[in-house]
Amino acid sequence: MKAARLLVLAVVVALIGAYFAFDLGQYLSLEHFKARQAVFESYRASHPWQTALVFFLGYVAVTGLSLPGATLMTLVGGAIFGLLWGTVIVSFASTIGATLAFLAARFLLRDGVQRRFGDRLGAINKGVAKDGPFYLFTLRLVPIFPFFVINLVMGLTPLRASTFYWVSQLGMLPATLVYVNAGREIGRIDSLSGILSPGLLLSFVLLGLFPLIAKKAVDLVKARRVYARWPRPARFDRNLVVIGAGSAGLVSAYIAAAVKAKVTLVERHRMGGDCLNTGCVPSKALIRTTRFLADVKRAGSLGIRAASAELDFGEVMERVQRVVRTVEPHDSVERYRGLGVDVVIGEARVTSPWTVEITSTEGTRTLSTRAIVIATGGRPAVPGIPGIGDVGYVTSDTVWELRTLPKRLLVLGGGPVGCELAQCFARLGAQVIQVQRGPRLLPKEDPEVSALIMERFRAEGIELRTEHAPLHFERDGDCRALLCEHAGARVRVEFDQLLVAVGRTANVSGFGLEALGVGVKEDGAVDTNEYLQTIYPNIYAAGDVAGPYQFTHMASHQAWYASVNALFGQFRKFRADYSVIPWCTFTDPEVARVGLSEREAMAKDVAYEVTTYRIDDLDRAIADEAAHGLVRVLTVPGKDRILGVTIVGEHAGELITEFTLAMRHGLGLNKILGTIHVYPTFSEAGKYAAGAWKRAHAPQRLLEWVGRYHAWRRS
Ligand SMILES: Cc1cc2nc3c(=O)[nH]c(=O)nc-3n(C[C@H](O)[C@H](O)[C@H](O)COP(=O)(O)OP(=O)(O)OC[C@H]3O[C@@H](n4cnc5c(N)ncnc54)[C@H](O)[C@@H]3O)c2cc1C
Repeated sequence: MKAARLLVLAVVVALIGAYFAFDLGQYLSLEHFKARQAVFESYRASHPWQTALVFFLGYVAVTGLSLPGATLMTLVGGAIFGLLWGTVIVSFASTIGATLAFLAARFLLRDGVQRRFGDRLGAINKGVAKDGPFYLFTLRLVPIFPFFVINLVMGLTPLRASTFYWVSQLGMLPATLVYVNAGREIGRIDSLSGILSPGLLLSFVLLGLFPLIAKKAVDLVKARRVYARWPRPARFDRNLVVIGAGSAGLVSAYIAAAVKAKVTLVERHRMGGDCLNTGCVPSKALIRTTRFLADVKRAGSLGIRAASAELDFGEVMERVQRVVRTVEPHDSVERYRGLGVDVVIGEARVTSPWTVEITSTEGTRTLSTRAIVIATGGRPAVPGIPGIGDVGYVTSDTVWELRTLPKRLLVLGGGPVGCELAQCFARLGAQVIQVQRGPRLLPKEDPEVSALIMERFRAEGIELRTEHAPLHFERDGDCRALLCEHAGARVRVEFDQLLVAVGRTANVSGFGLEALGVGVKEDGAVDTNEYLQTIYPNIYAAGDVAGPYQFTHMASHQAWYASVNALFGQFRKFRADYSVIPWCTFTDPEVARVGLSEREAMAKDVAYEVTTYRIDDLDRAIADEAAHGLVRVLTVPGKDRILGVTIVGEHAGELITEFTLAMRHGLGLNKILGTIHVYPTFSEAGKYAAGAWKRAHAPQRLLEWVGRYHAWRRS
């Protein structure tokens, strides 16, 4: 079997090699064909069957070997054989060639791929077994992926070869007809004026419109399939029902009301969701207090001989709640009702693609609606480590209820939430031990960034336990401990209070999505397309429940797309744009990023140059005793176009906006350098980074000549 595989592989490689070695591609160009069109046609007139056979075999070889040129050959088929015979020959040749490529991929690669990635391919295999023919038909009809890629990839799936054959032949037929027809028209041009012939123009229009028409047809069929089992209401109570009044839900409802749609917003717990009640707002309020405490601690560096702060942890936490209450009216029921939103405090359940059942203190009722936005957010993930229930824990949802400062706080997790809270509690006076499975904190950032944060955390007395894999928790009376594996040994970490911060899980279950068959992605978020539609085109998802970025500004960004597409999608739909997304982890120093990090650029094989400006040098930072951190800019080699920026330092979350704006609007580093920045400010760091880039790209040759010019002027 192995020998047979090697033999097939050798034949395929030899044939492809011959194609390139003998530059056979030169014969597969429109110019080459046009130059010899008369010869081909006269040969076809005298030897019709032989011409058809040679063309047929050539076509099968090109497609079977996945060589470039199938499109050109289809056009040529139309030009030589006309619409009917051209279509017949190309249709069979392309399908046979595609099936050969499919079989070759299957024979050579499938076993290896399934063996290696079988666990990850499980879902794909299941999907192909269930809906493979339909997906293949869609791919054939709407040629968004190259023809040869579909052949090869399908060969790796469990799809039957006979199914592949007939679905391909049927699915490719419309496109074959359109291309053969275009080829027939191109074949007829023999002068420049021919280019403007109505037949050719119509063929080109068909070529352009075909994918769009095919896509619309496929969308229609798909929509019919998913909606088939649900009775559609004759009329609708609402244009939109939004489930969840967090950042995503509030913005969706706001937009709907602003454009005069009838919208109901359902919230089962607290208006404002995670951000207001347990996320951004309380955490930033706590950070403000703890930053002050840190300043008091380093009073000496500011020239103050002694400063002290008397701390009442309970009062600090009460202040945090005061801040939440002060911000609360922005997200309140009253405000949103005033804006024209029908707000209901109750539990929502999706009962069909067009109906939402709402249970509130007033009872249960069902609203029919044209569209639904799922904005149910997420919740802290709690790992199933044995014993975790016995030791008890708080999460970012419940940590705000603490009124006594834990003596020893174990923070499980080294992501943004874990880091922000670990530093806060350390500054409040708790002995903080942070356990992280991987080798560094903030693993999504570059290693140097993590190193800066870890260095600061250690300096502030946080005990970092990286590369510690939790095994189980133990409790003996008041004594709690985590047993970890570290460097092949067992390590016991004792603590008084556990804070779990290992990420967030999307809220996707318990409100009807399962019964509707709405899919969930590998990361647990609702599966949506680029318009944020689920498999039901009128059900959208936005915010943490949709992912992939779990930030408030992302939730409102997605909410715009979800609500506008839900309300006006029949005229125009907008693809959610994730091209320039900034974020910040509000540790001290802050870590802000937009675009690519260096590690991401490497992983994605994106060519880049790095410019680093160290904030140690910045006048304002020196004056503020905050001379640490960096601005790191990735640019396209030789150009000032920004690919990504990471800032570590004071006010990094504010400074990143200049780069976000630049990236969003295509402004390069030259434009930042050419912009006046107030002196002395932290924002100058961005300009100095641009200056560092400029110096590295100064035209040395030209400068030598300029130097000579000045020397001449002095002589
Ligand atoms: C500690 C912490 C700090 C953070 N700091 C920041 C930060 O500084 N900056 C930032 O950008 N992001 C931050 N985040 C993330 C941010 O809070 C979230 O990304 C954001 O709140 C997500 O908004 P959302 O609308 O998607 O979901 P949520 O705010 O979670 O809202 C979902 C709402 O849906 C409701 N709901 C769920 N199911 C139903 C149902 N069946 N019926 C009715 N209602 C339902 C829930 O009660 C909830 O109110 C932080 C998060 C945490 C935990």
